[in-house]
Amino acid sequence: MSYYKYLKTREYYENLYDEMTVRDCRFFEQSFLDDYPHVEMIEFRSTEEERTMEVDLNKKEKEKKEDVELSDEEKEFRTRYAITRLTLHYKSAERAMHRKQTVDDWIQKDTLKDEKRVQIWEAHQENPRKRCRKCGDLMKCFDKDFHDTSDKADRILFMYECIDTNCKHREAEFENGEIWKREKPKCPNCNTTLEESEKRLKTKIKYSSKCPKCDFKDVWELDLNKKSKQQTKAQIQEKKDMERDKLRFCYSEKDCAQFKDDHDRIKRFNQSVAREKELEKTGESYQQVKELEKLTLLEAQKRIKEGLKGKKFLKLKFGEPDMGRDVVFEFKTYEGNSDRRESKATKELKNIIVKTLDQTNWKLMSDGISGRLGIYSGRIRSIEYKRF
Ligand SMILES: [Zn+2]
Ligand SMILES: [Zn+2]
Repeated sequence: MSYYKYLKTREYYENLYDEMTVRDCRFFEQSFLDDYPHVEMIEFRSTEEERTMEVDLNKKEKEKKEDVELSDEEKEFRTRYAITRLTLHYKSAERAMHRKQTVDDWIQKDTLKDEKRVQIWEAHQENPRKRCRKCGDLMKCFDKDFHDTSDKADRILFMYECIDTNCKHREAEFENGEIWKREKPKCPNCNTTLEESEKRLKTKIKYSSKCPKCDFKDVWELDLNKKSKQQTKAQIQEKKDMERDKLRFCYSEKDCAQFKDDHDRIKRFNQSVAREKELEKTGESYQQVKELEKLTLLEAQKRIKEGLKGKKFLKLKFGEPDMGRDVVFEFKTYEGNSDRRESKATKELKNIIVKTLDQTNWKLMSDGISGRLGIYSGRIRSIEYKRF
């Protein structure tokens, strides 16, 4: 007498996990394929070319120009294809990264369940003195098994048969002595117990049930030959599709390492593109920045001081530098020529500063110079270029 064991081979759990991965990815892919039936399947694994892709802004520019000539539908199609493709790639890689841990967890869970069951199994033995309630003779236990109940409690069911060959009465009993009774199906109309019957024919079994009180009737057939053959055909195709999709969606450990690499590279690439764009906006390309004269903060301040010499701007003072991503400092100076109009002085001061710092790694910030009651101020910031 043995019972169903939860623990299976490692291969079984791995297969189960992979099938879940395939179903998850297929479900996501299908929502795209439903909208674009002319696409059969999404090729989402990144190519070698894409992996080794370097920062090529010229190529990107060219693609951008080509994009303009596309129809709206085509643009939308391309965008959705790209998003679906990327999402599938991420999903597959993510599933692959959690595969080992999940399989380990499942195995551990089933091992614990089995260990618990061994104890229950051994703690309950059959009753050697059980008597038949029909004839009073002894009953012999011919089977012992765990009974699946909806509350998931591990209960054991013993099956007995009367040893009297004329009686052979059978009865099943739980480990606590409770007699097992099969719940007979009830009529959905009046809740009366249904009368059941089955008829075994050559190639099929005909089941029927009817209500003795109302006119409820139910008949169904189990086709023993034809159906099983058809199912096999469908099952073969399903298996084929599953194997094909496992190759598509289930990444190997090597793929997984590649994904991590790619992921890091993409992250660095995006950061450098973002930086490049920001510099483009302020008119500072990498090449330009490289050619600038590098001055320290004090050197830059000295240049400004020299630049203002003899220009009738007095008491030049610098504020504490702000050490953000760029270094920014404020300067303040006072009107030394009472005949000069404020707007003229602002313009002159701006020109001097811009000229003084030209071709260096410092520049006047875009908010310019503000002037009020003969006090002028502005901010200077550093130009730095960090390659990622
Ligand atoms: Zn009996
Ligand atoms: Zn009824």
